[in-house]
Amino acid sequence: MKAIGIVGGGFSGTMTAVWLMKNSTEKLQIYLIEKDHLARGQAYADIDPHLLLNVRADQMGAFPDDIGHFYRWLQDKKIECSASDFISRKIYGDYLSELLAKAIKESAGRVLVEIIKDQVIDLDAENKKLVFETHTPIQVDEVVLAIGLKLPAEFNFTEIKAGPGPITIIGTGLSMVDVVVYLHSIGHQGKITAVSRRGRAPLAHQFYDATVARPVYDFTKTHSLRDVLSMVRGNLKRFEWRLVIDGLRPHTQLLWSGWNLKERSQFLRYLRPIWDIHRHRISSQHQKILNDLKSIGRLEIKAIGFGNFQPETQIVMKCHGLTQNKSDFVKKLIEKKLVTADCFQLGIESQTNWIHTIGPLKRGQLWESLAVPEIRKQAHELANHLVPKLVVVL
Ligand SMILES: Cc1cc2nc3c(=O)[nH]c(=O)nc-3n(C[C@H](O)[C@H](O)[C@H](O)COP(=O)(O)OP(=O)(O)OC[C@H]3O[C@@H](n4cnc5c(N)ncnc54)[C@H](O)[C@@H]3O)c2cc1C
Repeated sequence: MKAIGIVGGGFSGTMTAVWLMKNSTEKLQIYLIEKDHLARGQAYADIDPHLLLNVRADQMGAFPDDIGHFYRWLQDKKIECSASDFISRKIYGDYLSELLAKAIKESAGRVLVEIIKDQVIDLDAENKKLVFETHTPIQVDEVVLAIGLKLPAEFNFTEIKAGPGPITIIGTGLSMVDVVVYLHSIGHQGKITAVSRRGRAPLAHQFYDATVARPVYDFTKTHSLRDVLSMVRGNLKRFEWRLVIDGLRPHTQLLWSGWNLKERSQFLRYLRPIWDIHRHRISSQHQKILNDLKSIGRLEIKAIGFGNFQPETQIVMKCHGLTQNKSDFVKKLIEKKLVTADCFQLGIESQTNWIHTIGPLKRGQLWESLAVPEIRKQAHELANHLVPKLVVVL
């Protein structure tokens, strides 16, 4: 019986497991290994319900062939919302947990699923064994690395206490928005100062109906960074900027893979800060909280330049954003040459045909590999590769 070990039970690992269970017609053993938040991962953990998805409900289905699935699930659960609402991330975690439980139930008898709540600390490549902190090692035929990125070390909601005192947040990206929204929800009354080198915060979504004109990009071949920039500049004169950015989304992976190292490096150095705040947008509700706090002087978002910054507050939260997973486990995989890190340290790439990466780990190869739309597709494709779906031709 084939055994597949999935390391990491966030969105990537969970949806790979779900598709494996759906695909399998023969006996299959799946080990789904998660040290913290099964079926939720870091993004959809049992967090404060005020923290919202940054994508609308009707776009967040976990299946690439049914993106409306999440919205229908919300309706089945009688959760009042419209298709364009931004739902709590905690609820999305409930959705994923239910998908996993359902898949396990429906594939019982065919697929053996063992959920292991432990940390994988090593991989014995010779014997294809996953080694754990406490669990006995398990032998597998294939390994899926679904271990995600690293959240800022000091980003822990339960440790942030409401109080009157001022707080400094280092970082002005999505994690900063989470912290500000959380502090607001627990009634924090002090001044919040968020700082970063450029002082730029994520911009907000806006709803456009289907009749609004959108740019059409015709990327059939690779295009230089310079070409793409000039196309984008041209489109910005004619279309709303959000539609210009969103129109690029289906092509980002193709463009990135066609750029040479110099172009990738230029993009990361000069354009990424601008890209990030336009591409990774926040809900209008979260933007309103930020704007309200700014207008009464309780939130200041500012640039601190390149010099040394000395926070003036006692409480300092580090919100540098997501970085490459550099756990001891990953270091060992690199040492053993089972995976390599790309030169920009964005992700890792497998060097053997029985180890597979998914989601944010593929950023070095694909760049756009962080969010649900990309990962739900990857999970489906990876499962089809590992356990091809049997197509019955009549
Ligand atoms: C705060 C936040 C909000 C987001 N909001 C949205 C959104 O609204 N819409 C959207 O499309 N995308 C969103 N994303 C992006 C996207 O959905 C996530 O990046 C995605 O969930 C990544 O899933 P993952 O499973 O690859 O990684 P993770 O969620 O990081 O899960 C990896 C899991 O692996 C486990 N793990 C790691 N190492 C080991 C080990 N050695 N042994 C055992 N377990 C291990 C970790 O505990 C973790 O649970 C958000 C991301 C974040 C961080």
